[in-house]
Amino acid sequence: MTDNSATKVALISGGSRGIGRATALRLARDGFHVGFCYQSNEQAAKELAQEIAELGVKAQAVRADVSDGDSVRRFVAETENELGPIDVAVTSAGITKDNALLMMPDADWHQVIDVNLSGVFNVCRSVIFEMMKRKSGSIVNISSVAGVYGNATQTNYAASKAGIIGFSRSLAKEVGRYGIRANVVAPGFIETDMTADLSEKVKKQAMQSIPLRRLGRAEEVADLVSYLSSDRASYITGAVLQIDGGIII
Ligand code: NAD
Repeated sequence: MTDNSATKVALISGGSRGIGRATALRLARDGFHVGFCYQSNEQAAKELAQEIAELGVKAQAVRADVSDGDSVRRFVAETENELGPIDVAVTSAGITKDNALLMMPDADWHQVIDVNLSGVFNVCRSVIFEMMKRKSGSIVNISSVAGVYGNATQTNYAASKAGIIGFSRSLAKEVGRYGIRANVVAPGFIETDMTADLSEKVKKQAMQSIPLRRLGRAEEVADLVSYLSSDRASYITGAVLQIDGGIII
């Protein structure tokens, strides 16, 4: 049993795959109604909505682009209309466009910042007023260990993920007085589509720097998000929690 009542609502960006998907299912098991956005794969979104509904809570899937403020406002409004006021917001939508800085096209810099960092801004700004009015809420933004330590060929990604940390700590200071918490989860290497394309060489190198000698699972990240979303974490805000098997970069 968790402390989350069945009437609470969670909103998740990038919900149809990977960490977002695992989080959607975990929060549904915690008793939240779950609204999530997907980018293009309607079939995957429908299947997830069905899986969530089978857990006895409501699901709402909305196609949205997190880098587009209007699109996110629609996503949030449709979720609130269908499921009710949002108690928990999790931002998991993210992309990589890795390259050495010397070779990095302008477009790859801007796209990664727009999706990863402006996406977090768009979601948080769209949910915050209702949370302030209700004097309660929990926001969990997904960053990365790359945002904490940096990573070669990821200047764009690391900048976006470090930006999420500064954003979230500032937000925590700004809205704590309204009973709203804002925290960051910074995963290391997690087995999802995002890491599926990494070469065996890169995976082997990563493994050598991970004391637990394995990649993480999306469900393990979802467990941490579940904790931070719940009242069990009622005195935690502005925190950056790494979940990385002990990786030292
Ligand atoms: P993933 O590629 O499996 O999922 C990313 C999700 O984001 C997908 O559902 C995708 O559709 C969505 N998305 C991408 N661009 C979008 C846009 N413009 N609008 C709406 N949705 C969009 O990746 P994942 O591993 O589940 O990553 C989830 C989050 O965790 C990301 O923010 C990622 O940076 C972060 N992260 C992942 C790892 C890892 O090793 N997998 C490590 C650290 C951090």
